[in-house]
Amino acid sequence: MIIWGWTEKLLGSIITNLTCTNCGKSGLVSYTFQRFFTIFFIPTIPLGKRGTLGCPSCGTAFLPENFNQTVTHKTPWWGFSGLILFGSLIALGIGVGIVESQNTSSYIQDPQANDIVVLKVKDDSKDMYPYIKLKSVDGDKITYYQSKYSYSRERDTLKEARNAKVGTELDEEVHEMSKDEFKKLNISVIERP
Ligand SMILES: [Zn+2]
Repeated sequence: MIIWGWTEKLLGSIITNLTCTNCGKSGLVSYTFQRFFTIFFIPTIPLGKRGTLGCPSCGTAFLPENFNQTVTHKTPWWGFSGLILFGSLIALGIGVGIVESQNTSSYIQDPQANDIVVLKVKDDSKDMYPYIKLKSVDGDKITYYQSKYSYSRERDTLKEARNAKVGTELDEEVHEMSKDEFKKLNISVIERP
């Protein structure tokens, strides 16, 4: 779940030479606020700015329009930190995905005992991910265990498969296939311990 929302931050303040219309003292302070779109409470996308003028002597607040005062503060770098952070995470995820699929295509050509092979199957037009665990690879013959359960997300399947035991998560029956049959499986990912 992504937690998102808005926040408003003070970008900065400067003392002006404007005079307070309430108490007559000069030196109104101009404040610049900016709204940010936040993801997980991190300011991610800078939105509009607004300014106010305040009198430090009497505490009156004014809208800058009344004094023709312009907003002077720039959006700081951290206003984009969420974009930078989430951009990096997405790039990292894509990188990991590329490495995984490269590994998988080389593992398919050369299966080994203990490989976790996640399969992608259609179940009521929904994708499901069962897995098999290779028991032995001997010449052209592969023996393997089948998972008892499958999940609708690949990562849930992998999480279970990493610690799966024969008799609990894996069915006890040993199945057999050739390397050609193995290559024809609809393989989603292979993890080699
Ligand atoms: Zn004042």
